[in-house]
Amino acid sequence: MIKYNFHTHSEYCDGKDDIEKYVIKAIEKEFYAIGFSPHSPLPFENPWSISNNNLEKYIHRAAELKEKYKNKIKIFTGIEFDYIPGYSDDFKNISGNGSLDYIIGSVHLVKKNGREETWFIDGKEESFFDGINKHFNGNAKKAVESFYQQTIEMIKTQKFDIIGHVDKVKMHNKERAFSTNGQWYKSLTESVLKEIKKHNIIVELNTRGVYTGKSSEYFPSEEILQKCLKMDIPVMINTDAHSPEQLDMHYHEALQVLKKTGFKKINTPFFDVDI
Ligand SMILES: [Zn+2]
Ligand SMILES: [Zn+2]
Repeated sequence: MIKYNFHTHSEYCDGKDDIEKYVIKAIEKEFYAIGFSPHSPLPFENPWSISNNNLEKYIHRAAELKEKYKNKIKIFTGIEFDYIPGYSDDFKNISGNGSLDYIIGSVHLVKKNGREETWFIDGKEESFFDGINKHFNGNAKKAVESFYQQTIEMIKTQKFDIIGHVDKVKMHNKERAFSTNGQWYKSLTESVLKEIKKHNIIVELNTRGVYTGKSSEYFPSEEILQKCLKMDIPVMINTDAHSPEQLDMHYHEALQVLKKTGFKKINTPFFDVDI
């Protein structure tokens, strides 16, 4: 079966190593395709996004590598867009020049209406819980609602191909401040899936939380995957690699989960694979 990975971070953002090292490793691992997805530029200092200057360099370099390795692997130039209302640019301002092959849309920072500060769901465990106290008066349900509302807003207002780690808000929580079994929680994720379906977006099964030891289950949960299958929402496997070695981490295990759930194929924005 052919392997691919469209969610990878290199030294252009917060990953390790040059993008060519990812290509070489992917060929070694007999991948059919690889896509790069640096974190999109943001208008404030941060240690994870690509700078505006480097964005152009990256696009140019990816084009060179496409040509250099064209007989060995398919290469796609992507980006992981960080959606933060009022802070992130419109997706189309970055993708508008036509040089990007695909976009992953993700929410990492939750912005409460009318407030400058954001709740970082993807940083340290401590700041995840501190943020619930600081920005939502300790009301975890409100915090989670804001995360999913921002996700829905992203789907409704932006154009992108793949939704990144759709239920990552559960990662640090581990069923403590809120329960993913609550009816309110299930309704929220169902509302997100309805929007995803309407806009024809691919849901990625993202293995990163599991192989870094931060999450006991993949993003999204098996329950959400079952709903995707029922709703005929396309899914794909990505590892969100931050080093070349992570290119296929938990790929095989994720594939087994999808097969067990009943999926017969996995998708990408460019081709499908029977499983
Ligand atoms: Zn992400
Ligand atoms: Zn990522």
